[in-house]
Amino acid sequence: MACFPSSMSGTDPMPGGESHAHTRAHTDTPTHNQKGIRGGTATGDAADTGRAVTTGTATGTGTNSRIGTDSSPTHDRDTTNTIAAPEPMADAEIERLDRAPLEALQLARLQETIRRVAASSPFYRQVFSDEHLTPDQFTHLDDIRKLPLITKEDLRAHYPDGFLAVPREEVVRLHTSTGTTGKPKAIFFTRGDVDRASDLIARCMAMTGAHPGDVFQNMVGYGLFTGGLIFHYGAEKLGLMVIPASAGNTERQLELLRDFGTTVVHLTPSYALYLADVLEQEGLDPQKDLKLRLAYIGAEPHSDETRTKVEAIYGIRAYNSYGLSEMNGPGVAFECPCQDGLHIWEDHYLVEIIDPDTGRPVPEGEEGELVLTSLTREAMPLLRYRTGDLTYIYPEPCPCGRTHRRLARMRGRVDDMFIYHGVNVFPSEIERVLMGMPGIGRNYQIVLTREGSRDVMQVRVEVERYLFDGSLPHLQQFQRQVQEKVKAACLVRPRIELLEAGSLPRTTGKATRVLDQRQV
Ligand SMILES: [Zn+2]
Repeated sequence: MACFPSSMSGTDPMPGGESHAHTRAHTDTPTHNQKGIRGGTATGDAADTGRAVTTGTATGTGTNSRIGTDSSPTHDRDTTNTIAAPEPMADAEIERLDRAPLEALQLARLQETIRRVAASSPFYRQVFSDEHLTPDQFTHLDDIRKLPLITKEDLRAHYPDGFLAVPREEVVRLHTSTGTTGKPKAIFFTRGDVDRASDLIARCMAMTGAHPGDVFQNMVGYGLFTGGLIFHYGAEKLGLMVIPASAGNTERQLELLRDFGTTVVHLTPSYALYLADVLEQEGLDPQKDLKLRLAYIGAEPHSDETRTKVEAIYGIRAYNSYGLSEMNGPGVAFECPCQDGLHIWEDHYLVEIIDPDTGRPVPEGEEGELVLTSLTREAMPLLRYRTGDLTYIYPEPCPCGRTHRRLARMRGRVDDMFIYHGVNVFPSEIERVLMGMPGIGRNYQIVLTREGSRDVMQVRVEVERYLFDGSLPHLQQFQRQVQEKVKAACLVRPRIELLEAGSLPRTTGKATRVLDQRQV
């Protein structure tokens, strides 16, 4: 789909769905006082006013986090009073707010957050005392750098509630963040936090054209992991029919997909590819036998080539979703219909990109580690949190007209990178090479072992059946091609093992792409 500027016709689905695209006003300028943007139908109104966000200093007091329900009609507002206005601002407006009022909104929310944590969070009370800081020293967004960077180790060290900034009785939800070692990270939510997290998911889904009438099958794990429940709440808020399928049980997933005519799914990209295998094994056509039109893929790093593959198999649009439990869960940044970078919702998050070695900011457009500050979280605001994810900010605005800046697809986590023969290797780079090659199947695995004192990398990759045509030279030639492509992209030359489709183990959640057996 072409991606037109917002001032062109409504090809970019808006809250309320594609059928309401004609109600869009031109949005090159702030549209707070434009009536036309709200559509006029029940779905349009529900999508807009139900998800309105609070503005300015009105956030974060714990009592007004739900300003902007269906009962609070929106009306013309004085554009000179945008930030302090107590009325809700619909997402369509917030998403296209000019940079100056957007940054003013960020500053107001940052100051409010800082005031609250300095007074209430045990961790931050200590930080402000140790660093001899007071909340009134934060008058510009850049003042955030007066605060230290924090890491997941800080969260673990202050487990379970060292970051809690509200009385326990205001907490309505606990999630934990997945960790492979040690204690998990405990993430608390107030009712307002759950609401705002859901609002953001609803915003993301509406942006990609989901609307009431869609059937949403949520195929990621529920429970302590934020991905399931937060997406669920967001989809309900937007008015979709939600099937809380959770992860696994592929036969039941297929039954639900077919019986209820599922149109939108949320799943990991590796599971999307696995599911296609199963469909085909059962003699079903992923395009003809399903009604799918949208997929949200996330929770594991993946390449654009993988996305393209998912889209081609199912005949759908697949959107990249980014989030982390420490920042509400999913919905932190999301692709718009341009599918070129993820809009990070800057009314809720302050973005920094730092050099992971020095901690200093890198120039806009340069790659570094994503550092996020939550601007609207109540229970557990985190300031300058190192996500471990490597990305960069697109310097140019998005053709869709949204003013919230775009993050490049995550190159992977700093933690995922491994060193092989002195070279830093990102599994996502290898995946990009593999998934861009015709003949390569849907699953692969990188195995690192040690032979004597020498590290060995083996890439085990499933290939299409037609390659097993009985000709060994053909296979060997293909093997060499794969090896050369990986070498060209990653500067390392792994051994390549070609396997028939279905040979590698499958998971229904996050796939294990790298088996590092060198320490064992
Ligand atoms: Zn965009």
